[in-house]
Amino acid sequence: MPIFEYECRACGHEFERLVRPGDVLACPACQSQDLEKLLSLSSVSTPSTRATAFQQARHAGRPLQQEKQQAEIDEIKHHYGENALTPLKPGPLRKKR
Ligand SMILES: [Zn+2]
Repeated sequence: MPIFEYECRACGHEFERLVRPGDVLACPACQSQDLEKLLSLSSVSTPSTRATAFQQARHAGRPLQQEKQQAEIDEIKHHYGENALTPLKPGPLRKKR
């Protein structure tokens, strides 16, 4: 039976709870049902955790990709600049990998 950790958005109370299908969870302190499920070691493989990890990976990968693109642009500029006087060279936008 999975035990999940929750934090009450209304009062900030944190609690653990056995969750069964059909259960209606409420904060034991203020009875609010506005709860946020917390990440815990026992639920690292839940879909929501994977989605968070995926978003973090995407977020972390973005600057790297921009850096790589900038490096390619610099390389093309450098290359194009050196060969700017050669008319048969394709332009930088037509460069094939
Ligand atoms: Zn509460």
